[in-house]
Amino acid sequence: MNKSIKKYNNKLLRELFQYFRKVLPFKKKVVLILSRKKACLLNDYGITIPPEDKEPIKIIIYNSFQCERIDTLIHEYAHAMRMARNDYNEHGNSWGIAYAKTYRKFLEFFDK
Ligand SMILES: [Zn+2]
Repeated sequence: MNKSIKKYNNKLLRELFQYFRKVLPFKKKVVLILSRKKACLLNDYGITIPPEDKEPIKIIIYNSFQCERIDTLIHEYAHAMRMARNDYNEHGNSWGIAYAKTYRKFLEFFDK
């Protein structure tokens, strides 16, 4: 892929993440890591790592198509929202609600 397109894609992902931070805030620190490691079906497309001590929550998005990375960011941000409330019920109802909220904000982001 062209280097400048890649830079643009990363910028867009970071902007979407910043938008989520603004419109779906929570008190714990969270960082977005855009990994160069390739995503594959046997692996994960992304992961959210719970905070240890004073460390922030880490959202890691692995390298894949941009639409998959956006999809993964929405999914993982919902995990971060729940982790910030010490809710580790992976894909339960509370995560589903957080996911729906995040998805709606994603639609707003591309509407504005
Ligand atoms: Zn998940």
